[in-house]
Amino acid sequence: MYDIVVIGAGTAGMTAGLYAARGGMKVIVLEGEGYGGQIVVSPEVENYPGIPNISGYDFSEGLYKQMLDCGAEYKQANVTRIEGDFGSFKVYTDSEAFDAKTVILATGVKNRKLGLSNEEQMTGLGVSYCATCDGNFFRKKTVAVNGGGNTALEDAIFLSKICEKVYVIHRRNAFRGEEAYVKQLKALDNVEIMTPYTVDSINGTERVTSLTLNNAETNDKVDIDVNGLFVAIGQVPNNQAFADVVELDEAGYIKALEDTLTSKKGIYAAGDCRTKEVRQLATAAADGATAAYKAINDINLM
Ligand SMILES: Cc1cc2nc3c(=O)[nH]c(=O)nc-3n(C[C@H](O)[C@H](O)[C@H](O)COP(=O)(O)OP(=O)(O)OC[C@H]3O[C@@H](n4cnc5c(N)ncnc54)[C@H](O)[C@@H]3O)c2cc1C
Repeated sequence: MYDIVVIGAGTAGMTAGLYAARGGMKVIVLEGEGYGGQIVVSPEVENYPGIPNISGYDFSEGLYKQMLDCGAEYKQANVTRIEGDFGSFKVYTDSEAFDAKTVILATGVKNRKLGLSNEEQMTGLGVSYCATCDGNFFRKKTVAVNGGGNTALEDAIFLSKICEKVYVIHRRNAFRGEEAYVKQLKALDNVEIMTPYTVDSINGTERVTSLTLNNAETNDKVDIDVNGLFVAIGQVPNNQAFADVVELDEAGYIKALEDTLTSKKGIYAAGDCRTKEVRQLATAAADGATAAYKAINDINLM
């Protein structure tokens, strides 16, 4: 019987493992793919407090070692479902089941991809899914933002203050995002709105150098020279397997506030997988610490 089973070994899950182990709990962190989570692919992280510059890989490696050194266990296993109640949960993976008094869900999100052939290969070489994280690497350069919702519009406004030029590419003429953002964008001298266009190909060998766009109405092609492409067409939370035990919002995020408490007693949600405004390493780590702290308190009061 584990005191705490953590699902997901991203920043939130590994921080939860670290805090739980230091709190004297018997804890295991289960990870479906490989520890580290989303940040592993990022070549440079410059906004984690106290660490001016580190690769996502080194950041994850450090946190993983720190968690193990503190006594947390780790196992590669994809969790498929949870049954039971506070004090006696059963956490099922593809091949076995773990007994747990409490469960911390730290399953993160996946960025929705454009589905272009070299998209993955160019990620970190000009293609990014996070303007807040990577915008600074494109200071005084030309970038494109692809998307039509608030995230895309906010990203474009943010990037217009850093970059020389920002293209906003959207497949429809009308944006889904708020009109106030659209107005703000249209008033900016260094922003060019390209609608109704889709990205047909990402061009460049060592880094992104241009994009070929396809006009969604006429099928005409146009090339634009850019140093970067920010894809902002949404994120997909990894929570469907747990929809029967915790409440999700319409977009699939686990309903939980800063206290990480979910609709089910004894299950906590930490990091990008929960409803929140800022999805970053610092907020994921904060959630991991809070979730472990809440679980420890609940166990001690059992
Ligand atoms: C390219 C890129 C660059 C970024 N750069 C920065 C940056 O510079 N600074 C910054 O602050 N933030 C950055 N971010 C955002 C940051 O990475 C996330 O906010 C952070 O990783 C969230 O951590 P998390 O632990 O909540 O989720 P994740 O990192 O998504 O980790 C969740 C883990 O859970 C696992 N998992 C999911 N479902 C299951 C299951 N059923 N069973 C077992 N395991 C499961 C996943 O495989 C994954 O490893 C970046 C994101 C990306 C994609």
